[in-house]
Amino acid sequence: MTTIRPHASTVERVPLRSALHDLPAYKPGKAAPVSGTTQYKLSSNENPYPPLPSVRDVVAEAAAGINLYPDMACTEITEAIAKRWDVPAASVSFGAGSVEVASQIIRAVAGEGDEVIFAWRSFEAYPILTGLAGAKAVHVPLTADERHDLPAMAAAVTERTRLIFVCTPNNPTGTSVTADELHAFMTAVPQDVLVVIDEAYVHFNVDAAAAHGIDFFRTYPNVVVLHTFSKAYGLAGLRIGYAIAPDYISAALRAVAIPFGVSALAQKAALASLDAEDEIEARITSLVTEREKLHAELLSIGWDVCPSEANFVWLRTGEATQELETIFTEAGVIVRAYPGDGIRISVGTPEANRQAVQAAKAAFNRLAAER
Ligand SMILES: *Cc1c(COP(=O)(O)O)cnc(C)c1O
Repeated sequence: MTTIRPHASTVERVPLRSALHDLPAYKPGKAAPVSGTTQYKLSSNENPYPPLPSVRDVVAEAAAGINLYPDMACTEITEAIAKRWDVPAASVSFGAGSVEVASQIIRAVAGEGDEVIFAWRSFEAYPILTGLAGAKAVHVPLTADERHDLPAMAAAVTERTRLIFVCTPNNPTGTSVTADELHAFMTAVPQDVLVVIDEAYVHFNVDAAAAHGIDFFRTYPNVVVLHTFSKAYGLAGLRIGYAIAPDYISAALRAVAIPFGVSALAQKAALASLDAEDEIEARITSLVTEREKLHAELLSIGWDVCPSEANFVWLRTGEATQELETIFTEAGVIVRAYPGDGIRISVGTPEANRQAVQAAKAAFNRLAAER
């Protein structure tokens, strides 16, 4: 006989999973507040260029079919990416942004009691996704020059380690790992630990010594490469990213993926973007030029900024972070502040970057005056 519990006068609550208790919150870059003065949103590493006309046209056309589910297998874009990187189609899988693919990877290999290693500070989604899976996040501090400490990360591997994220170039510091460093690391890490090379910003990396994830995928059996259309390709709003992984891992990622997670609009826009790589390339070149300019100007102000291989620069502002963020905000520049750590400034239009330099000057003077 079923017993129907009477309504209690105090509302009973359904217990939530304990993994949710200590989860850090993902803070999206602040939106530019609506006001009279021009505001520049340099807080989310977005591409400042509007979508390419060819991409907009394809998306507008695809809008006529949004009453239908998308192709769950992402067939066409899978083939295009496989061709682009000369890998088997079976090694390519998609998600609603590479952050979703990162979540698939964690859920596929790490559960209760397992350990996931990453540098810190790095992409703030890593500890959240790890915690959600019930696994333990192991933070390995960056070196004094804001780079991954790969020997320390290899030394942090235990019997419980299932997964290591290597974010290169690193969000939010912009530093990248070299091929030599990553080969030494791969040699030190057991082959039953998966190494995920998160290359969200790889297109902006001009360091000749830098590691290229695809070479490591071809060399080692335990490497996954993560790419996204959100940054260099400017499709952040459409949500599409992918993994290049050993076939059995790709199959596992498809198994844990949320069905129909990647919209037809996103798939078609990604295809059109691959067809427009010359135009995309020109935009990347301008953003890299602007980054170098921004970096040089920050140095000349007196900021001790590390070289960036991404579409942002990093100011190590420590305890003064929140106070200095206010100076940027008041100057109309919305930046990403990590309290106690630093401020990340995305590379925007030349006009936005000029404004950011002015604000950085004011911030530097404020610090100097306080010392
Ligand atoms: C932006 C970013 C991603 C992916 O973003 P999506 O929009 O989900 O594709 C992944 N990794 C890092 C380090 C990022 O900064």
